[in-house]
Amino acid sequence: MNLLVVGAGFAGASYARTLAEAGHKVTVIDSRSHIGGNAYDEIDQNGNRVHRYGPHLFHTNNEEVVKWVRQFGEWTQYEHRVEALLKDGRLAPLPVNRTTINTVFGEALANEQEVDKFLQHLAIPCDSPGNAAEYLYSKIGSTLTDLFFRPYTKKMWLMDLEQVDISVVSRVQIRHDDEDRYFPNDKFQIMPVKGYTSVFENIFDHDNIKIILNQQFNKSMLIDYGHCFNSMPIDVYFDFEMGELPYRSIKFHHRSLVTAADWNSSVINFTDDGKFTRETAWYLLPHHRESRSAGYSHTLEEPCDYKDNAFERYYPVKTADMRFQKIYKKYAELAEKLPNMNFIGRCGTYQYLDMHQVINQSLIGAKKWLSNQAQ
Ligand code: UDP
Repeated sequence: MNLLVVGAGFAGASYARTLAEAGHKVTVIDSRSHIGGNAYDEIDQNGNRVHRYGPHLFHTNNEEVVKWVRQFGEWTQYEHRVEALLKDGRLAPLPVNRTTINTVFGEALANEQEVDKFLQHLAIPCDSPGNAAEYLYSKIGSTLTDLFFRPYTKKMWLMDLEQVDISVVSRVQIRHDDEDRYFPNDKFQIMPVKGYTSVFENIFDHDNIKIILNQQFNKSMLIDYGHCFNSMPIDVYFDFEMGELPYRSIKFHHRSLVTAADWNSSVINFTDDGKFTRETAWYLLPHHRESRSAGYSHTLEEPCDYKDNAFERYYPVKTADMRFQKIYKKYAELAEKLPNMNFIGRCGTYQYLDMHQVINQSLIGAKKWLSNQAQ
């Protein structure tokens, strides 16, 4: 069958490759001038590898997903760490752990049990937390919440913690031990040795896949294809019939240093209420400094509404009252009625998904579609 995949990010790429390997002819279109979606990376003027749409760190417990991505390039182990910059200039590990708590409170808690006890005093109990504030207060109390989560979340989402869904902040662990990795629960923490773009080139390198860049989707294309796997924003497809699905976006501010920063981590998060959430020192990630002669690239992130950033949709907005998820459900019901179209990926399904989750959902989705065809 001739199939159309809209979007050359991880969702589209996982579908395209699986369908192509099953013998279908797949055309992938993307409105951007490059493949890779938001995981796209490139070498900048300093010879540093920069992820154009912000740092992408691959982490998962899903062995199948790791096996799949490893077919398309070499990956190296990389355990991501983040530090938070406090107002007095000191740095503290994120996720909040024993060291973080000792740093903030000037304590000398010696082990996990002492941290347990200390946090029990700080915690504001709540039987069934209904929003990010109640959830965090019930785990770590107000001082740590209001230091590490309240200003950052306000900058990021333009909302108070009381309005934000728990799933947004529970992405970040709270530790009572000395664990300082950002993704402590994930068995596989890896980065592509030649960059994400090279992985995408290899995924799309198949006789049955054709890529067309700088190509917007329009409905008249569908006539040429038996089925479409569509990662475009689902509200745009339906002309906002059920209302708008908002997104947060990021403006990236690049700076170049003459000497390398003396950081313990490649990313520093800001606890202040300025406009930036975090800063990445790219050359501190493995295989991100291709040329040894040039400068050292950093990128600061300034969150904004997607309408203030050329409609660049990065983060679906998850509020505690789930109002946008309710709108999305209405679109999903409309989509169910389209026999020859599946919506896929972050924008097609309006979910705050990590790369490994997108790949997992897409590989499963593609196989399911193939087995339905076979029946
Ligand atoms: N968060 C925070 N302070 C931090 C880091 C994260 O308040 O220093 C909150 C914030 O609401 C953020 C969410 O936790 O949007 C998820 O953070 P994560 O680092 O997973 O965001 P991503 O890397 O997806 O941008």
